[in-house]
Amino acid sequence: MLNIKNLKVNIDDKEILKGLDLEIKKGEVHVLMGQNGAGKSTLVKTLSDHYDCKVTQGELQYKDKNLLDLSVSDRANEGIFMSFQNPVEIPGVNNSYFLKTALNEKRKYNSEKELDAIEFLKLTKEELGKFGIDKKLLQRDLNDGFSGGEKKRNELIQLLLLKPDLILLDEIDSGLDVDAIKTVANVINNLLDGNRSVLMITHYDKLMSYIKPDFVHIMQDGKIVKTGDYNLALEIDSKGYEGIGNETNKS
Ligand code: ADP
Ligand code: MG
Ligand code: MG
Repeated sequence: MLNIKNLKVNIDDKEILKGLDLEIKKGEVHVLMGQNGAGKSTLVKTLSDHYDCKVTQGELQYKDKNLLDLSVSDRANEGIFMSFQNPVEIPGVNNSYFLKTALNEKRKYNSEKELDAIEFLKLTKEELGKFGIDKKLLQRDLNDGFSGGEKKRNELIQLLLLKPDLILLDEIDSGLDVDAIKTVANVINNLLDGNRSVLMITHYDKLMSYIKPDFVHIMQDGKIVKTGDYNLALEIDSKGYEGIGNETNKS
């Protein structure tokens, strides 16, 4: 699904990612942990082609394509989805309209029939209903005045409709109560049918206890310095990052 080799990324001419390697296969769930400023958000932002992040070296292969050849919208149409740590607010753009446009762009790109308003409404009702997510958010402007929890719920709506192949989640669980974390986990687990992959950044054990990761990576100073399984996350929970040390352990 995704193969990253020796990735180096600058932000404002400062090197933030310093030679990062990561391979994510179809169906796998990877968790990225690490202290603040390690470069976790920079990695997922780079994958979604955020304008802050300038790739200076390395290879990024997504499916059978060079990711760097794909524009932001191509990446979305090719099935990459990112939930940002701080989603943008777009006043004046109706959320439902935005979602329908995004979904139809993707369908058109993949030579599928576009949905009309009635079909779109039916789909949103079905998908949101499965997880008890309120439809009200659809009628508002995109993220405008959304509370933290509403922004997260809105990301779930996007996930459910777009059904991406590579799901990038940057601290989607931060500030959520247990019930909301359960809803997030239900949605993700439901999408995990063996064909989709997840890369998620989280500081907490809670989300991982519902979405069992195949791999847990520790990032430090722009690189992955340790890789393990769920037990590594538990170890960090008890010992902290300092206690784990930074010996390299390539899997
Ligand atoms: P993490 O998500 O692991 O906390 P980030 O990827 O957000 O780390 O940040 C990595 C480093 O890049 C930090 O030193 C941060 O200050 C710097 N950085 C991130 N975004 C910007 C930006 N827009 N401008 C300048 N520096 C940035
Ligand atoms: Mg941070
Ligand atoms: Mg971050």
